[in-house]
Amino acid sequence: MTVGVVAIQGDFEKHVNSLLRLSKAGLETKEIRCAEDLENVDRVIIPGGESTTVGLLMRRFGLGPALIERAKSGMHIWGTCMGMILMAREIEERPDQYSLGILDVAVRRNAFGTQVHSFEDSVAVSGLSEPIEGVFIRAPIVSRMGEGVQVIAQYEGKIVGVRQGNLIGTSFHPELTLDTRMHEWFLEL
Ligand code: GLN
Repeated sequence: MTVGVVAIQGDFEKHVNSLLRLSKAGLETKEIRCAEDLENVDRVIIPGGESTTVGLLMRRFGLGPALIERAKSGMHIWGTCMGMILMAREIEERPDQYSLGILDVAVRRNAFGTQVHSFEDSVAVSGLSEPIEGVFIRAPIVSRMGEGVQVIAQYEGKIVGVRQGNLIGTSFHPELTLDTRMHEWFLEL
């Protein structure tokens, strides 16, 4: 299995490291920057970073439309923080910001405050038997969601993890911890 990690900007290397740490036989990783890079890729992770910049470049490099097509044909895509913002159908108060629109949710950027309000805390995720350490960095929340979307994680009553079939979004960053259970779970979907 080849897992592509969108590598335009952000913490993509951390995702690659988490995947390599799984040391799964036959697992390969690939950095994705343009549509052609998606060839022979089975799953994609969109990392944390700056969603405005990466959205613009995704569109410019033709990666946006290619990801939309692959999402529709059932490829598993997981977005962490910025990644979830870029997957969302709607970004609150930013109608002009580019997003793929594949995940039927509205997100609120920086919902916990600015950089100084970044934090870590334990979060229960459905599918994992024990909670994981959630790293929240200028994290978004899901403020509305469509019928086909399931909540997989909440923090203080706010939705911080969702699943819509083959698509997963989390507000937090499992790639910034040494815990690889969420990556493992994603590969097993
Ligand atoms: N606040 C950033 C944004 O809106 C996301 C931050 C992150 O990915 N850690 O793009």
